[in-house]
Amino acid sequence: MWDTLLIDCHAATMAKTGERFGAIRDAAIGIDRGRLAFVGASASVKTGAREIHSLKGAWVTPGLIDCHTHAVFAGNRAQEWAMRLQGASYEEIAKAGGGILSTVKATRAASLEALVASTASRLLKMAEHGVTTVEIKSGYGLDLENETKMLVAAERAGKIANIHVSRSFLGAHALPPEFAHDRKAYLDRLCAEDIPKIAQQRLADSVDAFCETIAFTKDECRRVFEAARSHGLPVRLHAEQRSDQGGAQLAAEHGALSADHLEHLSEEGIAALARAGTVAVLLPAAYYFLRDTNPPPIAALRKAGVPIAIASDCNPGTSPMLSLTDVLNMGCTLFRLTPEEALQGVTRHAAKALGLEKEVGTLEAGKVADLAVWDIGDPAELAYWIGAHLMIERYVSGQLVRNAWRAE
Ligand SMILES: [Zn+2]
Repeated sequence: MWDTLLIDCHAATMAKTGERFGAIRDAAIGIDRGRLAFVGASASVKTGAREIHSLKGAWVTPGLIDCHTHAVFAGNRAQEWAMRLQGASYEEIAKAGGGILSTVKATRAASLEALVASTASRLLKMAEHGVTTVEIKSGYGLDLENETKMLVAAERAGKIANIHVSRSFLGAHALPPEFAHDRKAYLDRLCAEDIPKIAQQRLADSVDAFCETIAFTKDECRRVFEAARSHGLPVRLHAEQRSDQGGAQLAAEHGALSADHLEHLSEEGIAALARAGTVAVLLPAAYYFLRDTNPPPIAALRKAGVPIAIASDCNPGTSPMLSLTDVLNMGCTLFRLTPEEALQGVTRHAAKALGLEKEVGTLEAGKVADLAVWDIGDPAELAYWIGAHLMIERYVSGQLVRNAWRAE
């Protein structure tokens, strides 16, 4: 006897079965002790369940995975965005108190409780669009006390919103104001003190860095990666967003889980990612919000067989995005991904980007029973509709979580 049996549904398993979306029509899904016990044709079910739930012809996908967010922050930057629309320069915005350091200031000033509350509110909105796992980065604290506060807030907010949280330490996001004139001293502290303590207290699942002319150099990021790996933490990198810094090659050399953004990725970078099996995480909502015009080299990534994930990049400065289904549409419209590639990008490949591919990302027996149930007639519709609330309900670790706004 299983705990739960879902019937009268179609499953987009996203497993590599040769079928479009790994689809199984007239499917049944067995759940036992929080895991998938069976995913297959309803005609072949031979086990009973304590609870049988008819999904009335709905489609079921793996719970969606948002593998790149900065969802913990205080304040917002709507004012700065309005200035940018009027043509204000980076310097003018910084002078008016905007930019990433304004978020650092607000986040440092916020209490842990306030950060938990504002983050949980955002995660609940993400959950309405089918998300069951989210990666959340620190990087607005930039000192151990405030980075720790952010990572603790991420975990607590995930529990409130019924979302699994994977945490990344992003101390190398920006140079904190108190180190503006001594980069080396900040890097020294980050590598010799902060990373060891974060690792020791198990506050993060990976370490991230921002490799860019306005952030940290390739050599500085290398130092961060070496410190992370010597403490047993895998790495990921913000790479090639505004210029080609060779970040993808650095990420690949360190066996990075992912290299993210990649608008200016070179051929050498693509080859390096392919060799290392590093996931290319594309962030179409940031591309849209920044009115960028240079898309990542999708065709070349595809040809090289680099796994492509897409994510919201939810953050107050460049991507105030809370709908991962809208990100699917942007991935197709702006980057010309196919709807199936886009959905792979928030399921199977996003799981790989978090090192969680054995646990989540496809509907296969043995994996965690994280599911999203959708009011659609075909999985491609998840990427087609814009601004739609298509989700009916989620299962997180086998537990039904109903959508708060859902009409009965
Ligand atoms: Zn980011």
